[in-house]
Amino acid sequence: MERKIKGKKLAILFHETYEKLAPKFNWITREASRNFDETSANGKLMIAVCNKIFDQVAIIKRDIKTACADYHPQMQGKQNFCETCGADIRFE
Ligand SMILES: [Zn+2]
Repeated sequence: MERKIKGKKLAILFHETYEKLAPKFNWITREASRNFDETSANGKLMIAVCNKIFDQVAIIKRDIKTACADYHPQMQGKQNFCETCGADIRFE
């Protein structure tokens, strides 16, 4: 359930930001889709895309954490982020 909410929040943020910025790029969005509709096919697709993005971000964060732990073990237990590589992670 939490995963679904995260995807929905990102989809809404993306949609609202897209609509807000569109005129600055001389892009005219469709009147019918100016309001985000989570029940429409487009809304469901956007939420699904955002959930996939969260999945990929989680994988990337895990890879960064693994690499940082391998290369910078001296940082474990000292910080909430690695001062050496800048990884914003919490060591266990
Ligand atoms: Zn590091």
